Amino acid sequence: MKYKCQKCGFIHEGELRDGYYCPFCKVSLFEFKEIKSKKEEPVYNRVFVDPDNPALMRIEEKCIKCGACSNTCINIVNIRYKNPKKPICINCGQCILTCPTGALVPKYDYNKVLDLINNPDKTVVVMTSPAVRVALGDAFGYKAGEFLEGKMVAALKELGFDYIFDTTFGADLTSMEEAAELQQRVKNEDVLPMFTSCCPSWVKYASIYHPELLKNISTCKSPIGMQAAYVRKFFSKEKKIKEKNLVIVALTPCTAKKYELEKNDCDYVITTSEMTLAIKENNIDFKKLPDVNYDDLVGSSSGTIYGTSGGVMLSALRCFYYMETGHHLLSNMIYTKENDFYKEYNVKINKRIYKTAVVYKMENLEKLLPIKDEFTFIEVMNCNHGCIGGGGQIPMPIINQKNILNRRSKSLMKKDEEAIVKYPYNNPAIKKAYKIHLKNPLSSISMENLHTKHNNLSKEFS
Ligand code: SF4
Ligand code: SF4
Ligand code: SF4
Repeated sequence: MKYKCQKCGFIHEGELRDGYYCPFCKVSLFEFKEIKSKKEEPVYNRVFVDPDNPALMRIEEKCIKCGACSNTCINIVNIRYKNPKKPICINCGQCILTCPTGALVPKYDYNKVLDLINNPDKTVVVMTSPAVRVALGDAFGYKAGEFLEGKMVAALKELGFDYIFDTTFGADLTSMEEAAELQQRVKNEDVLPMFTSCCPSWVKYASIYHPELLKNISTCKSPIGMQAAYVRKFFSKEKKIKEKNLVIVALTPCTAKKYELEKNDCDYVITTSEMTLAIKENNIDFKKLPDVNYDDLVGSSSGTIYGTSGGVMLSALRCFYYMETGHHLLSNMIYTKENDFYKEYNVKINKRIYKTAVVYKMENLEKLLPIKDEFTFIEVMNCNHGCIGGGGQIPMPIINQKNILNRRSKSLMKKDEEAIVKYPYNNPAIKKAYKIHLKNPLSSISMENLHTKHNNLSKEFS
């Protein structure tokens, strides 16, 4: 007899005795389900980690060949191997989070960044993604989801970064541009639904498995892509930093952003888990750090909620509503509906109802695709509950995962409830960016710096 743990995919062979629990995720025997048919058996092979994979690596000595990574990759991330000899990886890092021994880790780049910080010729800028600040505390004994923005900035200062910015600024730019793009598509009766573009794993997944959807995906770069372009093109000029001396680093919960470096102005990506290693190896006493503010380029709270599923949609809808009506979109004007595998956010504007959908995990996306034409706009994120569950976060006990992710999400949403600067179009830094440099959303200069093309990769992986 074979039984599969429903939490982590571990297979137990033989009878399940009283008191038995999963050796990996520690759930009781009641979480095991008998494997009855050959079809239900998971693939035991490990995920293939190409040495050139920019996002992750495997420490061979730690691998016990349990197959949990393959289970996640095939059954949750939904990777189908058209050609078994050609590995497909969308760089999401979800296999890292289910690896029970820590054999899978993000590809480490933090030491290269620390070396550059020590080079006096270099000006090293770091931008921090929203989901890092509610996860970093896990490594330093804080309660799950604790909002530690000030200490995170202080730690980056201690490590020696020259400028520390918030990627919520890039998120605000994304919302402004995405809302304007949606307006244009609706007005011109162009291709709808429009899909969000800020998750590189989702965009790569579509490029391989659904190239027919590439025309539906927004042309907006991700928030990191937009902010890196802004820093390189405009901020560096304001500060008279020479191009060859500027180094732009993104601190993110996302391993896939390492893959995205091929297409943007950012030089390095370090993940939350790499940041904790840098803090510990440099003997920084995180708990004793004071709260420190960002140096510049800070976003509204609409940018902060980008870290959790639904945040991108809410933020872009706020901008879309304002562009259409000149008024703020308040929470009680959004009709939300929870469905089995997706959520709807519906808004009435000038007698028209705009139906939108929010989905995370590629297995859920596949279920949504047959009904996609019901919607005007769809947010897609690869990871569990969005970026708070990104593959670059500190791995969490699988048994507590749901609770931890809920706490991270609530922590970000609470900041939005309490915020003074809630709307991207009211953010002074965004107003300045458009007034001085970008002119308007979708202006020629915005298109040149903040937008991109999505390539069809289906042939490459067939
Ligand atoms: S989950 Fe980790 S330990 Fe298990 S096979 Fe994959 S890499 Fe090895
Ligand atoms: S990073 Fe994602 S796509 Fe790549 S092997 Fe791991 S789970 Fe699969
Ligand atoms: S959901 Fe967020 S963390 Fe996960 S792959 Fe997409 S952008 Fe990265």
